[in-house]
Amino acid sequence: MTERTIFHKIRDKELPADIVYEDDLVLVFKDIRPQAALHLLLIPKKEGDVVASIADITKSTEHVPGMLIDKARNFAKEKGIDGYRLTFHVGKGGGQEVFYLHLHFLSNQSLKD
Ligand code: 5GP
Repeated sequence: MTERTIFHKIRDKELPADIVYEDDLVLVFKDIRPQAALHLLLIPKKEGDVVASIADITKSTEHVPGMLIDKARNFAKEKGIDGYRLTFHVGKGGGQEVFYLHLHFLSNQSLKD
């Protein structure tokens, strides 16, 4: 990837975001324009895991979508959320705006502490 996107800046803490979970591999934050009671975005953190889109996945990054889905599942379980939608927008035609791979997590159940 050549161009730094807004999600690079959120990952690198150069821009603020409402972060709800973080570990060495993944950052999870609230979408600024939520489409559901709870709308989160999951992004990979390691530079080697970052690609623009699902369409750009190669052998070295094929583990990344599964990792994001795993993190989403574990996060939901931990928070007691038992119904949610997971979505990847792929390319401009698929509604993708930010070209830094991310998984949308949407639920009608809001987040309890
Ligand atoms: P895409 O359409 O690329 O799959 O999704 C990008 C998402 O990022 C959109 O749902 C949009 O609302 C969200 N978004 C765009 N800019 C920002 C931002 O600066 N902060 C946060 N938290 N979300 C953003």
